[in-house]
Amino acid sequence: MRTSHYCSSRNEHRFRHVHCVIGLRIRMAASKPDRTGVLVTCPSCGKTNRLRYSTLGSTVRCGACKTPLSPPAEPLEVPDAATFDALISSSSVPVVVDFWAPWCGPCRMMAPELEKVARSAAGEWLIVKVDTETVPELGERYRIRSIPTLAIFKGGRQIHSAAGARSAADIRALVESNLRNPAA
Ligand SMILES: [Zn+2]
Repeated sequence: MRTSHYCSSRNEHRFRHVHCVIGLRIRMAASKPDRTGVLVTCPSCGKTNRLRYSTLGSTVRCGACKTPLSPPAEPLEVPDAATFDALISSSSVPVVVDFWAPWCGPCRMMAPELEKVARSAAGEWLIVKVDTETVPELGERYRIRSIPTLAIFKGGRQIHSAAGARSAADIRALVESNLRNPAA
């Protein structure tokens, strides 16, 4: 893949790095969260690497070829409560959780907006999706009354939640204002 070439050098021109990030996003479409981190494919050598939640705020290199690996730039679908707990408790960056369900129209409308936010906030926050049908215990634990609901976690603690579908700009504004002034 042509774009992966750009990722092989740290000293590429910034413009090229943009292509590198776009290439990564496509290649990382299958990044999977588990109890210790996110599995991502190296864009340069194809090796699967584990990005630990505790290192998401810093540069991590491929274990095989040392190419810097970009942080997740897409929403991560949480498969179970244990993965959610591990991620929330050890993430070095704030986590924005989308409680949703496949049958919910507004949730589906918000999905591409969340993808935009995940791209622009890569390395800054993590965007996580919890399907309340697949993992009902999380919806119950956080008393989710309507979906979609966005919940913001920082340092393992929930600092805010808000129901209703939002545009990418509104999601960003919601998260930024709460990270500045946690409503406690
Ligand atoms: Zn590699």
